[in-house]
Amino acid sequence: MKNALSIDLEDWFCVHNLAGVIKRDDWDKCDLRVRRNTTRILDLLDEKKVKATFFVLGWVADRAPDLIQEVERRGHEIGVHGYNHLLLTEITPEEFDADLQRALEALAKAGVKTTPVGFRAPSFSMVNTTKDWALPTLEKYGFRYDSSVFPVGFHPDYGIADAPLSPYKITDQLYEFPMSVLEMYGRRFPFCGGGYFRLFPYSYTRFCMRKVNAQGRSVVFYLHPWEIDPEQPRVKNLSASQKFRHYRNLNQTERRLRRLIDDFEFTTVREVLQI
Ligand SMILES: [Zn+2]
Repeated sequence: MKNALSIDLEDWFCVHNLAGVIKRDDWDKCDLRVRRNTTRILDLLDEKKVKATFFVLGWVADRAPDLIQEVERRGHEIGVHGYNHLLLTEITPEEFDADLQRALEALAKAGVKTTPVGFRAPSFSMVNTTKDWALPTLEKYGFRYDSSVFPVGFHPDYGIADAPLSPYKITDQLYEFPMSVLEMYGRRFPFCGGGYFRLFPYSYTRFCMRKVNAQGRSVVFYLHPWEIDPEQPRVKNLSASQKFRHYRNLNQTERRLRRLIDDFEFTTVREVLQI
């Protein structure tokens, strides 16, 4: 069974978890590490002959256009992750429209040749209060799929508790490839990347993914380039929980990703959806 591998292409300081201590206006003062970290992921994918989908932040495309070209040149799918990493839950429909347009312009200016058809909302902020205006905005710019809905009800910042688990037509034009969860004993267990991949043992991810595949569903897995970078600058004044979520097991992630790619079959989101 083919699963989708997705990389949210942003740098360590773009993360919502750090937004309280690193202001967006200060991003340009931070050490830009996304180039070397993404290149390491690209080299690993080349070695394993795997294609992936990179949901690119427009802000990064403006600062590292050569990197975005390289991602495309190596045969991966380019998707969109917004321009300024704005959470849909914190902006107006008009601000979302402007941010999305700016992201698409940044990708075009960076030299991306194909037209992006996939979108991932920052911090999975495609939720009940945002989807009714955000999805039509995606349609307006020609998108064909969204991969942002987390079908869980426990998280304070994201999730749609009763959303379907498999890819489905969410509007006439758009597919939704929801973030994968394992449903067992009437409960939904998240596992499919990011913090879940780093905080829990590798065997947990492998167990959930095997189960989901055995239930006949493809998984969409996600990771960020900064998650394979244990040497990234340590931010001061973080709470214990912020520190745990951002820095835990950074030195193990690349090795685990290598194992995951050996244990499962991966390709782009677009190819799994066959669009
Ligand atoms: Zn993000």
